[in-house]
Amino acid sequence: MSDANSTISIRSSELSDPMPDPAGPVEPGDLNQQLLTTSVWTDEMVQAAGIPIVDVPLVSVGGGIGSYVLANHLRIAGMPTSHMRILSNLDVPWQTYEYLTQVSQVPRKERLRSDAQSMPDNMWGFPSYAFREAWADKKIGPIFNVCTEPVFRDYYTPKAGQVFEAMEREAARMSYFDMTVKGQVRMTRRRYGGGYFTILTPPQGQSATKRVAYRSTYVHFSVGYPGVKFLPDLQEYRSTYDDYVRVVNAYEPHEQVYEELKRRPGLVMIRGGGIVASRVLQRLIDDRDQYGLQTQILHVFRTYVTGSHGPSIFLRRKGGDGWAYQGFNWPKSCWGGHYKFKFEKLEGDARRDFYKILDGTNTPIRKNWQEQLARGRREGWYRTYVGAVDSVVPGADGTVVTKVKAQDGSLLEVPAHFVIDCTGLESDVREHRLYADLFDHSNAQRNVLGRLAVGRSFEVEGTQSAPGTMYAAGTMTLGSYFAGVDTFLGLQYAAVRIMDDLASRGFIKKMGPVRSSTQWLKWARNKELPK
Ligand SMILES: Cc1cc2nc3c(=O)[nH]c(=O)nc-3n(C[C@H](O)[C@H](O)[C@H](O)COP(=O)(O)OP(=O)(O)OC[C@H]3O[C@@H](n4cnc5c(N)ncnc54)[C@H](O)[C@@H]3O)c2cc1C
Repeated sequence: MSDANSTISIRSSELSDPMPDPAGPVEPGDLNQQLLTTSVWTDEMVQAAGIPIVDVPLVSVGGGIGSYVLANHLRIAGMPTSHMRILSNLDVPWQTYEYLTQVSQVPRKERLRSDAQSMPDNMWGFPSYAFREAWADKKIGPIFNVCTEPVFRDYYTPKAGQVFEAMEREAARMSYFDMTVKGQVRMTRRRYGGGYFTILTPPQGQSATKRVAYRSTYVHFSVGYPGVKFLPDLQEYRSTYDDYVRVVNAYEPHEQVYEELKRRPGLVMIRGGGIVASRVLQRLIDDRDQYGLQTQILHVFRTYVTGSHGPSIFLRRKGGDGWAYQGFNWPKSCWGGHYKFKFEKLEGDARRDFYKILDGTNTPIRKNWQEQLARGRREGWYRTYVGAVDSVVPGADGTVVTKVKAQDGSLLEVPAHFVIDCTGLESDVREHRLYADLFDHSNAQRNVLGRLAVGRSFEVEGTQSAPGTMYAAGTMTLGSYFAGVDTFLGLQYAAVRIMDDLASRGFIKKMGPVRSSTQWLKWARNKELPK
């Protein structure tokens, strides 16, 4: 199910100043009926509408981490800042990411899921985050960790704050903000004669016209998640009973839940079995331990994993106590090993079937969190339920009752003071207006998982406008030839492929080992890149 009612905004488009896109009488410099209904635009059509045209060879839409890493790769390869414009509603590229990690209980001081295989500020991956943390803090601990993991220690991962600070430094070095233009992108259409027009709505009062058209040979999309997919039964409860306080999504601000639990003991129900569920549980238990709270935790699993599982002895994932365990969201070889090459070769149903085999909610195994849950089970304040949720209704004494249909068919009623939905950010690709427009007007196609089909160089299939090309990266391209798209490493891999493709088209020089090595030395000395 995927409709407007099952999706809530992640505020990604509201993080900065609100930039409404009012529909009213057409004023000069606005989209007119002819532009809205014509798929391929001529220069004259745009000029006739009074929309100013800005020429730039490459436009990146989004301005999040995907745009940042592409800009970084191209700048290091020698692209001047004048060759790229990044159109975004964000103030800084890590803004949405920081918002989402913070609300899902990973503030700056907490550690992320990913390791140093990928560092958005450092395309070489060397020196590692562990080394940099040890160097900055003058401590051997992080180095010791990576030398003894995963047998004696959990995998080392960096603190969120370390990643953001490093990105900030590299943004200044590459003059990132010289390339950004603030605004909301309305659409990208193919241009008659080649290339594209990307329509930007600048913040009110910052432009003489309502829209500005960016005419470019190349366009890159990395616009993140269209929204949060809310579990249908919880969304129905929220809209029916107008209760947005007791039933919350982990990706919305929900600090009030933890504050209320500090004021009086309560029952909290968790839905979901992924990384966010584990982070929320850790927060609840940390608060319990730190403030001596009496919080009771009820956890509903739709599928309860009891041990190692998978279709064959070669395809198994560890698990237990309800959870499926995996260090990263896809098996590691999806990024650079056997599975990466396999995905590149698979087409159609074979690719879809392989995705289905590897798919599944999972979380990394962490010793402190395992200890917390084991203690909760022993002491009786962490209880699990297995089954499909039938419905959610208001209960007595300000509770919310979840009716769980067990596997034997019986209906169990579980009351709780709060329900936290930790089930994820899935959302249909059409819910993003830009992608819907690409499907409707630019011949974009869906891939085997129903998302945006991109080729091996991340070119959006079907949308070519020779000599121009459109590229896309990030979560909405999942289902194409590379699985780990929604990760720092996936975004960097996409950037490398796009950089090579652009080099083959003469946009930049191909970066060889000599340039790469000399550029690393400049990176290490924090030497500013020439503009
Ligand atoms: C909670 C959470 C934790 C994660 N942790 C990790 C991790 O530890 N390691 C890892 O490798 N990956 C992680 N990821 C996955 C991924 O790396 C990040 O989500 C990353 O931010 C994705 O980058 P992006 O550029 O695709 O999207 P974003 O960084 O979200 O940037 C895209 C931005 O485009 C802007 N935009 C959208 N539409 C428009 C428009 N029409 N006009 C102008 N601007 C627009 C929005 O502001 C949007 O935020 C995590 C994801 C989440 C949600």
